[in-house]
Amino acid sequence: MPDEYPEYPHHSQMLEYLRAYAAHFGVDRRIEYRTPVERIEPASDNDWIVTLARGEKRCYGAVVVANGHNWDPKYPNLPGEFHGQAFHSASYRTPDLFTGKRVLVIGAGNSGCDIAVDAVKAGARRVFHSMRRGYHILPKFIMGRPVDQIYSQMLKLHLPLAVRRMAAKLAIWLVQGSNRNAGLPEPDHRLFETHPLVNQLLPYFVRHGSIEPKPDVTGLEGDAVRFSDGSRKKVDVLVYATGYRHTFPFLDSTLLNWENGRPGLHLNLFHPEYDTLFVAGLIQPNSGEIFLLHWQSRAIALFLRALECGAPAADWLRERKRKMETELSSGIRYSESPRHSLEVEQGSYYRELKQVVKELEKDLEAEDHKVQKELAMDSGLLSGYRSKFRKKLSSLT
Ligand SMILES: Cc1cc2nc3c(=O)[nH]c(=O)nc-3n(C[C@H](O)[C@H](O)[C@H](O)COP(=O)(O)OP(=O)(O)OC[C@H]3O[C@@H](n4cnc5c(N)ncnc54)[C@H](O)[C@@H]3O)c2cc1C
Repeated sequence: MPDEYPEYPHHSQMLEYLRAYAAHFGVDRRIEYRTPVERIEPASDNDWIVTLARGEKRCYGAVVVANGHNWDPKYPNLPGEFHGQAFHSASYRTPDLFTGKRVLVIGAGNSGCDIAVDAVKAGARRVFHSMRRGYHILPKFIMGRPVDQIYSQMLKLHLPLAVRRMAAKLAIWLVQGSNRNAGLPEPDHRLFETHPLVNQLLPYFVRHGSIEPKPDVTGLEGDAVRFSDGSRKKVDVLVYATGYRHTFPFLDSTLLNWENGRPGLHLNLFHPEYDTLFVAGLIQPNSGEIFLLHWQSRAIALFLRALECGAPAADWLRERKRKMETELSSGIRYSESPRHSLEVEQGSYYRELKQVVKELEKDLEAEDHKVQKELAMDSGLLSGYRSKFRKKLSSLT
């Protein structure tokens, strides 16, 4: 990213970056905007029939599904009715609607915590935050550096999980002490077993009394909400920061080999059977995701090229993806909630993906050399024939 960007860029800068990325690789010229896909079905010979929302049908040699996994809102099943303003974090845009209101945020993932903090900053009258459990809350900066950079540094040094865990726990303890001190519930799991929560301001605002942590919501009562500790609070705005369902409305569910609540894919990317169907972006790493998507795209492109020219690495990957044997958690035992069905440990995932890319690149380079050598030999033979032909021609004339 450009050096002048701050360490945590604004969303407008992210958009600018993504546009520059697409232009750099010439992808922008190939995107057909405002062209929703309605259906994708297998055809013969590994081809796919794609039906667009406007009814047009097209045939493609390969399909990369990249529809994102943070768009289809998941709601808790709560008894009763709420008469105030309610919406899911998926449709949250600006915080001004919180000004002067009593706000309840349900869910303490990164979105829920960010929105609760936004509500305080926007001048909400009260902010309640319902948390199902206690979480380890990492500060955004450790030793003046973004926490994900420190984590990556620890991975580069090959520090074992126990040491990474201890270092992160020490950092949390030095910066904000225990959750109990801050008035937040204590975690019921070990650090890294749930998706990392990075938020320096949540404990700060809880300690200032600006955010009031609450347990589970048990019922909606018109202009109020009831909690599992028996308390009842009047609420004007209710935000469901309760996560997303992983759905692919344009694909028959049998096509994605679903198992344990998620598509059963090698590296969450390659279909074990279909060689020309991929799902990119279907991962939830415990640190930055976007750079992994770059490597996923590279792996897909190389595999398709290897298939096309019959390189042996294509068979190698075919065999590998059928077996589906990969370890993507670096020994971390993730919480079994549906929220963690796509969780991968960033370092392990990157290593596995890089291995696939390297193997394909190595083989394709060898294939390229072979083809170039054959071409050179062909052109040598050809020039030999040509000079013989010229000599023959001159002897005749
Ligand atoms: C609050 C929040 C904060 C995040 N912060 C970070 C972060 O700091 N760092 C990071 O690396 N990641 C972060 N992520 C994750 C980030 O969203 C992903 O890394 C990234 O957006 C995934 O890109 P994607 O292309 O897979 O999916 P998306 O960005 O969701 O894009 C999917 C695209 O597919 C299109 N689409 C869907 N269905 C169809 C259809 N039927 N036909 C045609 N088009 C369709 C959609 O319109 C959309 O343009 C964050 C996510 C959230 C929700």
